[in-house]
Amino acid sequence: MREGLKILLLAGTQEARLLPNLLQKHMPDVQVIASFAGAVSQLPDLGVPTRVGGFGGPEGLADYCRSEEIDFLVDATHPFAAQISRNACHAARLVALPLFRLTRAPWAETDGDGWHRVGDLDAAASCLPAGSKPFIAVGRKEIKRFCHRSDLEAVVRMIERPTCSLPAGWSLQLSRPSKTSREEEAFFRTHGITHVVSKNSGGEASYAKIAAARALSLPVIMIDRPDLPQAIEFHDPSALCEAIAESG
Ligand code: NAP
Repeated sequence: MREGLKILLLAGTQEARLLPNLLQKHMPDVQVIASFAGAVSQLPDLGVPTRVGGFGGPEGLADYCRSEEIDFLVDATHPFAAQISRNACHAARLVALPLFRLTRAPWAETDGDGWHRVGDLDAAASCLPAGSKPFIAVGRKEIKRFCHRSDLEAVVRMIERPTCSLPAGWSLQLSRPSKTSREEEAFFRTHGITHVVSKNSGGEASYAKIAAARALSLPVIMIDRPDLPQAIEFHDPSALCEAIAESG
């Protein structure tokens, strides 16, 4: 193991929050810099030096890695944050840096689910039947891709206000996802939800809506993950940390 390995952690997920501590357990001399896009105003404290905001594309990220003398790049961003993951692969090539990706295993359809899988947000928006009351669980920037569907009575839930105005007749809930499927079932019943639109984010934190849809026999429009360039990928934060420690 090399002393003082310097790691740039592209953060933004729950799993990324675990990494600084885990890395320090495996490598007491490790230095971690966490990086956030800055999409939400309240960022978690990962207990390590932190920077916020874009780098200016892959070249900007490569320049940053050179100037900070980064030894290792860890991409622990959201599976739908495709641009930064592509940039990370490109920058790693430019600087000849090792790159590991931490990503949640995608959800799989199970007995009782009624999924209609689509390739992207636009396909999800077009397949919703006119007059339906979908619950649309996408990000505050992504919701604009659904806003031409003023024929829907959609319910939208997000932590911070969307970046666009929503059609009249849509309902906006400013809150975090419910923790249990029981709560999600109650939420869907209260709003008379007919369809659930979800990205296949994976993980437990936002699975309650999928379990609730199953319990209520609601169809789910499941948006598949974007394709990413190949990288060494881990689903388990500890396994990723062990692999970095071993590679040093
Ligand atoms: P994106 O489209 O991959 O990223 C857009 C740009 O934001 C990147 O090109 C980069 O700018 C900057 N960026 C993203 N993550 C960064 C990080 N960790 N550190 C520094 N800069 C970063 O991703 P997005 O716009 O953030 O999100 C797209 C989707 O992912 C949405 O569905 C969103 O809800 C979901 N999501 C993302 C995150 C995340 O950590 N990014 C977390 C939760 C959910 P430059 O090119 O200028 O470097």
